[in-house]
Amino acid sequence: MLLYDHHVHAFGCIHPEDLWNYLHKTGRERKGYMDWYAQTYEQAFLEKPDWEKWLSSKSLDDFSRFYLCEAPLNFAQFQAKFNLIIALCDLGPKSIDLLEIAMDRHALQGLKQVEYRFPLPVRLSQEDMYVYFELVSQLLQRVNERYRGQFIATAAFTLPREMAWYPLHYQWLKLWMEKHPKKVLFFTAIDFSYFEENDEILEKKRFFSRVKEDNFQNPDLALAILVHVGETFESIPAGLSMLRVLEAAKLGVDRIGHGSVLGFNFKHNLLRPQTQVLSHDILQGIHSRMKAHGLTWDYELKDQTITEEQSMLAELQEQVLRLIKKMKTPFEHCPSSSSRLSGSSQSTLGAFLRHNIDTLICSDDPGIFSTTLQKEFYFANHQFPELTIDVQNQLAHAHRSEVMSGKIQVASRLF
Ligand SMILES: [Zn+2]
Repeated sequence: MLLYDHHVHAFGCIHPEDLWNYLHKTGRERKGYMDWYAQTYEQAFLEKPDWEKWLSSKSLDDFSRFYLCEAPLNFAQFQAKFNLIIALCDLGPKSIDLLEIAMDRHALQGLKQVEYRFPLPVRLSQEDMYVYFELVSQLLQRVNERYRGQFIATAAFTLPREMAWYPLHYQWLKLWMEKHPKKVLFFTAIDFSYFEENDEILEKKRFFSRVKEDNFQNPDLALAILVHVGETFESIPAGLSMLRVLEAAKLGVDRIGHGSVLGFNFKHNLLRPQTQVLSHDILQGIHSRMKAHGLTWDYELKDQTITEEQSMLAELQEQVLRLIKKMKTPFEHCPSSSSRLSGSSQSTLGAFLRHNIDTLICSDDPGIFSTTLQKEFYFANHQFPELTIDVQNQLAHAHRSEVMSGKIQVASRLF
């Protein structure tokens, strides 16, 4: 069986029954948030969840239908479903106990190591953030001591994508780590997720250099750099999304989440909108960045709206994949999440395998996608039998964050 899951969002691991119990404990106190959730859900799906009815119901069915992502959906719809977790759990220190149940589930499934991504909420002050780090550290210590090295839980911290926040949150994290070196053995990475389409990863060049310099200066506190890129491209040109995946690899990030755009089947997929509106200056900027990498990108421009030809995009995918192969950056591929959110699961995996790009099968949000790592592997392996458990485990072992960041050697373990 697969032993490592390197791409999991801590709160996305919560199963419907756990959230249901939590709703019955805290739902009434969270009325304002739950009303907000119901409104955002209605905007995305044109159907409003009657959450107050759930409080007096004994059946989970209606609740689960609203919570689980079991059919294709766009990013706004996924966010609307995830808002139920935000509304109830606050994605912060208050509901951290709920994550322990998810970790126990992973340990009982026989996994050896899971890296959980913990969001750093922008509403927290420096003091509150320190409380949060302390709680995450205690949670990891507790779980890891319970399983005595048979199962290891580690933490990657998801920073906000905006420049106003991520350097500050990183600074707080590092300050806390320096103050408490004995408590941070299991803190292994930083991550960028959430909505990616407004984020030019290139703007983080100096920040990534700083993280790498910090890792070099103090390897015991090193953090790998993980980014979600090329996962969704609903409001930007697909060519731009591909360029950003390449730029992330060139900036030396340690692992890339998804990169679905590189294998997206533009010919057969109807989810993809055909056009976007971009200013002349932005288009020129994209062109010169493409040119710097020797890429050919073309489009039709009419009334400030661009259309990208399918055959041009297929050729661009091949060009970018060939360059990525040289960079040796590993990708995390999450089959259920990719097929439901990007409509590209198997074609993306096929493109990576065809180009011999190191690809790790991961589960993303197993609670909300109603899956497990083993199910994800069987789903992928069904179409690509060349994907073997042994090779996956070796790859995952070599690409652990603590190895990529220089914290430990590939032959070592944290615990
Ligand atoms: Zn993810």
